[in-house]
Amino acid sequence: MTTELGRLIARRIALAGPISMADFMAEALGHPRLGYYRGALPVGAAGDFTTAPEISQMFGEMVGAWLAERWLAMGKPLPVNLVELGPGRGSLMADALRATRGVAGFHAALELHLVETNAPLRTRQERALAGFRPVWHERFDEVPEGPLLLVANEFFDALPVRQFEKAHDGWHERMIGLAADGETLAFALGPGVTPYARFLGDAPDGAQAEIGEAGRALAAAIGGRVKRHGGWALIVDYGYETGAGTSVQAVRGHKGASLLDRPGETDLSAHVDFAALAAAADAPTFGPVSQAHFLRQLGIVQRAQTLKARATDDQCAAVDAALARLIGADQMGTLFRVLAIGDGRSIPAGFSEAP
Ligand code: SAH
Repeated sequence: MTTELGRLIARRIALAGPISMADFMAEALGHPRLGYYRGALPVGAAGDFTTAPEISQMFGEMVGAWLAERWLAMGKPLPVNLVELGPGRGSLMADALRATRGVAGFHAALELHLVETNAPLRTRQERALAGFRPVWHERFDEVPEGPLLLVANEFFDALPVRQFEKAHDGWHERMIGLAADGETLAFALGPGVTPYARFLGDAPDGAQAEIGEAGRALAAAIGGRVKRHGGWALIVDYGYETGAGTSVQAVRGHKGASLLDRPGETDLSAHVDFAALAAAADAPTFGPVSQAHFLRQLGIVQRAQTLKARATDDQCAAVDAALARLIGADQMGTLFRVLAIGDGRSIPAGFSEAP
């Protein structure tokens, strides 16, 4: 049994023909009433997945330190737009702001802008960040022009990607159509060679590839702001290992699910192609470095020690476990990467070569 959204998508395909993976993701995640990111709280222990800021306050604290350091490096612009893309429950920003209370003038300079489409999550963010009078937007383009400090954790992976497969006559787009029963969603290659072939280069037959136009457009918009007004952006996400292949995955209830099953109830995400984002930004970029490298350079190990000095045995064990999840090579430490886009006048904390 599929979902109401699954039936709507099948009807659209029956009427207008197969759709791209990008169109499918955009509908499945963003449909105004039935999309996955419109519905009840996806993030957190009770949702479908847990994120770094939900694992530990230390993550947001390190990001806060980075943002404040970049604000100082920018010459303390006033005002500065502090933007978060997809703030989830608001935990990252709340921890970042709590950690930077002592930075003279920083909070007074901030105008907080949150880009979020999910109404239940906006309510959470409002509660977590009430003291900072955030302004919400549907899209980054709506954020007023001005000096920029931006953070996005596990946001770019939710943006739609197109998928391609190489056949003997060239690259074809991987489309979603209907199975023989006329109802079930099914993959099929587009009949003609795709015009995107010129971005894909040569590859053996059967090779697969992805292009994320939405992510590239957003990186270009961020790069444009930084060039016009000065500023810095920090993008954290799980990234491409090899730069090739397809990566869209489906998760429901903390478990893998099948891609076309139950759209609207299933989280879909793609590995982020950091090289493509950096190229699209068309501004100085730093990294990507591993999340472990970034967090260690920002001082997360010392922060964990400070927290443990005032903690019970149980709390100490929880801090150690959280630290291991955030920086462990077998956990989030290497799969997750961090990219900075900025004015390039100095190397931001977390991105120097030394370990
Ligand atoms: N950054 C948070 C949440 C990550 S989940 C954390 O680390 O915990 C992705 C977030 O982006 C959610 O808040 C989701 O509602 C939001 N989101 C997803 N797609 C979006 C889009 N196209 N426009 C705006 N917000 C989006």
